[in-house]
Amino acid sequence: MSEHVLPQTELEAWGTDVQVVVCETCDWRFVLPAETSLPRCPHCFGTELELLSGEVSELPYVAPPEQAVPFAVSEAQLTGGIETFAKGIPLPPKDLNPAALRARLQAIYLPRWWVDAEVAALWQAEVGFDYEVVSHQERYSDTVGGWQARKVHEGRVRWEPRAGRLRRTYENVMAPALEAEKALRAQFGDYDVTRARPYHVDMVRRAPVRLPDRVPAVAWADAEMALRRRAGDECRQAAKGDHIREYRWQPAYPKRNWTLLLLPAYTTYYLDDEQRPQPVLIHGQTGRVIGMRKASLKRAQRIALILGLMALIIFVLSSISLLAVAVAPPLLVLGGIGLLVGMVLGLSALAPLIVVWRFNRPRRRPQER
Ligand SMILES: [Zn+2]
Repeated sequence: MSEHVLPQTELEAWGTDVQVVVCETCDWRFVLPAETSLPRCPHCFGTELELLSGEVSELPYVAPPEQAVPFAVSEAQLTGGIETFAKGIPLPPKDLNPAALRARLQAIYLPRWWVDAEVAALWQAEVGFDYEVVSHQERYSDTVGGWQARKVHEGRVRWEPRAGRLRRTYENVMAPALEAEKALRAQFGDYDVTRARPYHVDMVRRAPVRLPDRVPAVAWADAEMALRRRAGDECRQAAKGDHIREYRWQPAYPKRNWTLLLLPAYTTYYLDDEQRPQPVLIHGQTGRVIGMRKASLKRAQRIALILGLMALIIFVLSSISLLAVAVAPPLLVLGGIGLLVGMVLGLSALAPLIVVWRFNRPRRRPQER
């Protein structure tokens, strides 16, 4: 696709009748085959998707993709990943179980830009060359009883100014087509895009396709940054240097070719204590599972309450026994043991609460499995 051909409402180009749908909760927009009934939002699972009410032509981009990375996770891998995700949570919410997660599994495609750009640039930089300095250090040692010389190798970098001219085409420069992509990629890991194949209508029939919310004009800034990094590294290689700094260039881009690429993923969800859906995302190529793994505070409270009540009953009965010691002296032993058991049970009521609190403590990022 040339960047100058602006997307019209070319929904026909998808190869089948399609509809654009939106989630009112998370504002994610998808393309689905027209005959499909509208499912829950496969991103947040908060509400059912709705037919887009406004003009489709007002959307940033609605043309079909050119390429897609195929789904490559086996059934066994999917099941294994989900089981591992659900395992190891103390007192998980009742709904957080492999069977429920598996039953709600939904395939989706996420968009990404892929640019081939011709670059013509003048550049200048400082190129660093590693070298080694050998010196001798004298050390006095009591154990040896005298001075000892030691050879010390020290790495240094020699910097030299370099300049040049660059003209070449860079292929497969990636740029986010979604605002959420960077955060997502940091957790999710990347894709092997060399597996991409041309778009086929069966792809949109198989899974909802997330529409880009960043058009090429916006995504270009990211692509240009990546280009600069690649060009800088090549200039360093050309100068046979080990490092490069102060890289400056004046680039021109005689030709840019944009491709919209689809990346495969699965989503599913479980309901937390408040019956809110917690989305879980699965990488469609590696099977990596990400999502919040939370223990159920409600279940912990219920167990704590039962233990607490039992402790109270034992405590009251033991106290009554002790009051009746005058009538039946053997009750002293029974009452004493009862008090002790009641106390231990009362304290153990705190355990489930502490375990859940410790597991749910905010971590730097959601748990990954
Ligand atoms: Zn949503």
